[in-house]
Amino acid sequence: MRAIQRTLGASRMENVAYLDGRFLPESEAKVTIFDHGLLYGDGVFEGIRAYNKRVFKLERHVERMYQSAKAIDLKIPHTPEEFRDLILETCRRNNVVDGYIRPIVTRGPGDLGLDPRKCKRGATVAIIAQPGIMLYPKDKYEKGLKLVTSSYRRVPPQSLSPSIKSLNYLNQILARIEANQYGADEALLLDIQGYVSEASADNFFIVQNHSIMTPYTSTNLPGITRETVMELAEKMGIKVIERPFTLFDVWASSEAFITGTAAEIGPVVEVDGRTIGDGKPGKVTKQLMKAFRELVTTTGTPIY
Ligand code: PMP
Repeated sequence: MRAIQRTLGASRMENVAYLDGRFLPESEAKVTIFDHGLLYGDGVFEGIRAYNKRVFKLERHVERMYQSAKAIDLKIPHTPEEFRDLILETCRRNNVVDGYIRPIVTRGPGDLGLDPRKCKRGATVAIIAQPGIMLYPKDKYEKGLKLVTSSYRRVPPQSLSPSIKSLNYLNQILARIEANQYGADEALLLDIQGYVSEASADNFFIVQNHSIMTPYTSTNLPGITRETVMELAEKMGIKVIERPFTLFDVWASSEAFITGTAAEIGPVVEVDGRTIGDGKPGKVTKQLMKAFRELVTTTGTPIY
């Protein structure tokens, strides 16, 4: 409690989180050490943003979470409609105008041993909604991000479907640690065959001529920002190509960017020490950033 108060600062009111049917101060929203989410990473989650008193693509995020849960045979003890309402209520309790929302559903508490049948009580459901916007520092959007290719390959779909937004992020965390060690802003992971997959928690695009190109989601998460950007690009007359490509294509591209709910659209200006384009955020990337901002601030499910 004291540690949390220290982190939040004395002047700030503590946020309220949802946990298993109750709204609690964050410092009291605790799960047991026997929760299989903690013991085995057995669970799913979402990352959602609120802009201007509206939740962006709420339905799609809830849909993706239910799809992830279904893929791991995890029963969420609410209908998707109830879950949407819980998310909105958590936002209201925290007076969210702009914010970041994190629903989490785990297998729930159970004895040691990874068999999900040990979790007799059923799923743990938690929702964190934090006011304020979480962005990379502003200068990263103005100057661009530096990426390094990770020596770790993205876990192949033969081992774990990358479409499942699960609580197992060690593959990406190892890549991120490596990027930190190289002083880069982000890691770029290749798939098991050596084609470009995605960044540690963001999808990846390159720009060639007036086209944007991104790999199929067979090797990476079907990002909601990714699909939003693809829709926007098409409306703007920018060609969208989904196909496997290599690091050579990245190094030779005129622009590159990452997409994700937290990062939004992040221009990439360097990969593995090679300058991308002229080393500044590119024209197409900037056009997409502008259109994206316009969309997120004018659409979404009203909170109030
Ligand atoms: N890939 C991974 C591995 C992610 O965790 C995320 C979410 N942060 C993304 C891509 C981007 O997805 P979205 O645009 O839906 O946030």
